[in-house]
Amino acid sequence: MKITHIGSILMKPMPWVLVKVETDEGITGIGEAYHGAGVHQIVVDPRLQAALIGQDPRNVDKLFRDMMQRMSASGFYQGAVMSAISGIESALWDITGQALSAPIWQLLGGKFRDKIRLYNDCHAGESETVEAYIAKAKEVEALGFSALKFDIDPLPTRRDRYNRCISNDDIAYYVEVVTAVRQALQRNTDLAIDAHWFYAPVDILKVAHAFEDLNLLWLEDPIPPENVAAMVRVAGATRTPICTGENFYTRHGFRELIERQAADIISPDLAKAGGLLEGRRIADLADLYYIPVAPHNIGSPIETIATCHVMAAVPNFLALEFHHLHNPVWENLLDGPPLIEDGHISVPNRPGLGVTLNEDTLRANMKENLGFFSDNR
Ligand code: MG
Repeated sequence: MKITHIGSILMKPMPWVLVKVETDEGITGIGEAYHGAGVHQIVVDPRLQAALIGQDPRNVDKLFRDMMQRMSASGFYQGAVMSAISGIESALWDITGQALSAPIWQLLGGKFRDKIRLYNDCHAGESETVEAYIAKAKEVEALGFSALKFDIDPLPTRRDRYNRCISNDDIAYYVEVVTAVRQALQRNTDLAIDAHWFYAPVDILKVAHAFEDLNLLWLEDPIPPENVAAMVRVAGATRTPICTGENFYTRHGFRELIERQAADIISPDLAKAGGLLEGRRIADLADLYYIPVAPHNIGSPIETIATCHVMAAVPNFLALEFHHLHNPVWENLLDGPPLIEDGHISVPNRPGLGVTLNEDTLRANMKENLGFFSDNR
């Protein structure tokens, strides 16, 4: 079997980047690359085409290395290039699974679970009142989600966006909101809070200490992501579990974070971190230290279902992010019944990714087509 064509599509209104890899045996693979400036163009870059066209798509790991080597002399790359490579890698697994009549989770070692637990990212309340946060939390809980997340982002007008400090008023406000939401939820509904990298260690620790008796699922990205030593300090200083990882690429990006146990939970985004096998490797690395994995995911159903296959196949899965409640494009991008039931996704048993794109939805929400559909060939 040989790869004959690679195409991409940039969607709207969410700028999801879908990848399509075609073969000479009629099997087509679909993947998703983490969106960002130019990612859909990088997917069809001549250097990646040179690494792939004419090659056997089932040699996924070799082609992953070849793509990195073609894009840089050192064979290692991060950022938008790794997002593009991740999307292609995922499509290669879809092809391999179809060729072997096996779902991707089976190719990754078999499954630990039949359903993948989602957590719903609620952002914030409809207004900045305690009542609005509670109303949103109860609405999501009533839909069957057993875990949810809110942001803790004081308005830019209320904070100095450069000094990473948080005012006493904001600390008091967020402790009030989070305590009230926690108390409004059922005991077994988990609550996570995302701090979006805004704070200095000493400031976010004031919040983390105040949260300690609330039994939160985690406090996410408390400080900027790039300084592992500072993250070690935060994670070691509080009983509130610390989660981070959505900004890291490949197992190399996670190595120091995991080896220094700078987080209690890691949150790789498989559509940027290197794809599905790299996601399994990152999860395995974390499992050496008994660290659970809760993947970041703001992608379409394609990234979501691809991540489900990997998270079915690793022991240390905790929960998968879901961002698109009441989004008709998300709900209609795949054929078949709704993916989400009672806050979970059933792991597909069909070969490959095991889902079918709805072409009408895709065409109606297409911003740019770089060979994904054959129209422009
Ligand atoms: Mg986050």
